[in-house]
Amino acid sequence: MKRIYVNELENYYGQEIEISGFVDNVRNLQWVQFVILRDVTGKVQITIEKSEEKNKELVELVSNLTNESTIKVTGTVLESPKVKLGGKEIIPTKIEVTSTCTETELPINIKDKDASLLDARLDHRWLDLRNEYNMNIFKIQSKLVEAMREFLYQNHFMEIHTPKLIATASESGSEVFEVKYFDTLAYLAQSPQFYKQMAMSSGMDRIFEVGPVFRAENSNTNRHTTEFTGFDLEFSYIDSYEDVMELEEQLLMYALKKVKDEYGDMIKETYHQEVVVPTKPFPRIKLHDLYQELEARYGYQVAEEAKGDLTTEAEKLAYQYAMDVYNSEFIFVTDFTKDSRPFYHMRKDDIPQGYDLIWRGVEITTGAQREHRYETLLQQATEKGLDKDVEFYLQFFKYGCPPHGGFGIGVDRLTMLLLGIPTIKEAMFIFRGPTRLTP
Ligand code: ATP
Repeated sequence: MKRIYVNELENYYGQEIEISGFVDNVRNLQWVQFVILRDVTGKVQITIEKSEEKNKELVELVSNLTNESTIKVTGTVLESPKVKLGGKEIIPTKIEVTSTCTETELPINIKDKDASLLDARLDHRWLDLRNEYNMNIFKIQSKLVEAMREFLYQNHFMEIHTPKLIATASESGSEVFEVKYFDTLAYLAQSPQFYKQMAMSSGMDRIFEVGPVFRAENSNTNRHTTEFTGFDLEFSYIDSYEDVMELEEQLLMYALKKVKDEYGDMIKETYHQEVVVPTKPFPRIKLHDLYQELEARYGYQVAEEAKGDLTTEAEKLAYQYAMDVYNSEFIFVTDFTKDSRPFYHMRKDDIPQGYDLIWRGVEITTGAQREHRYETLLQQATEKGLDKDVEFYLQFFKYGCPPHGGFGIGVDRLTMLLLGIPTIKEAMFIFRGPTRLTP
């Protein structure tokens, strides 16, 4: 018999079906037993009349059933308006315990997530995720990534997979993890940047990757982790980084619309966030002008030497500015100083041809047109003292390479912002931080 999910039951009224899930709750009353079965799509009541002779074995089994065990139930689905839980119930003919929860007390409260400390929840993440609020984060994240992929497939992109074990620390040595690699050292990739560009040199034209990114950042902010999922793309034959920004606008408009259509109501009810599908163009502002606006409007002052990059506070205020002036949750910030940008960003009149995208007060993306001219690239790498380290990478540009650009979005950060979750620790399946390597 085919397994049915809870959210499909109403198509099967009057029919015998098979359903599997966790035991959410058992109520053993004088005349009747109720088992609430929970699967990934919802909950349903299983009703067992104690007085019926044929139910003798079932009654015995249910009397010993523990919460959070897993069961497989065969029975008939009935439409029962009097049942508060979804107006339906299952009258079982057979219940099989497929796994027993032997612990009578769970280490965390899975019915009320706020009743347990976050660290305890992360320690027992497999239980924590049985909570509906937590589980739904990942249903929504999955939809978001599916929509982003879908958009790219529709636009001639192909998905590739780049190595995470690399021989040289890619962009700067400070943020990479070293790993022992037989009798030498390797590093964990802190971005797929160089390989995305190699794909351009290979003629792959338009590629993307969804994969792990490692950062040895010993920081404990609400938006940094040492391993996150990067959504990275790169594409060829662009004229300017404007093309990159435009593609990102289209991608986000498409993905947020899909998420809103499917989960907009749930996100409003459960996470108290409105999914706003943006319209293009997103506002754009030069970094220097942004600092001027922030000072004039909000009295925000920052030391001269910090003005080459965005401060955390400036990211927050940039959101306020974008809302106040453009009623936009997004804003592109351009014209960073070359000191604050990697050597591979193309420069024009010494200005890096790239941007950061701020959403709801947090950076979600760095994007740019890349420097594809060998001599210029070599010079820019040399200037940052990296020419020897990136010698292998520089080779990609000696044999003809199309002009190209791209960007990277952090999936976990995006999820956190979409749902207004206070920390990235809850917006990723398993969090990794400076003091957390388990589970
Ligand atoms: P930040 O300035 O916030 O540390 P970054 O400039 O190092 O970010 P990039 O290297 O441009 O970030 O990475 C691209 C995107 O990846 C970022 O915009 C962000 O969404 C995400 N990201 C970067 N670092 C982290 C991290 N440590 N944890 C989670 N997501 C991250």
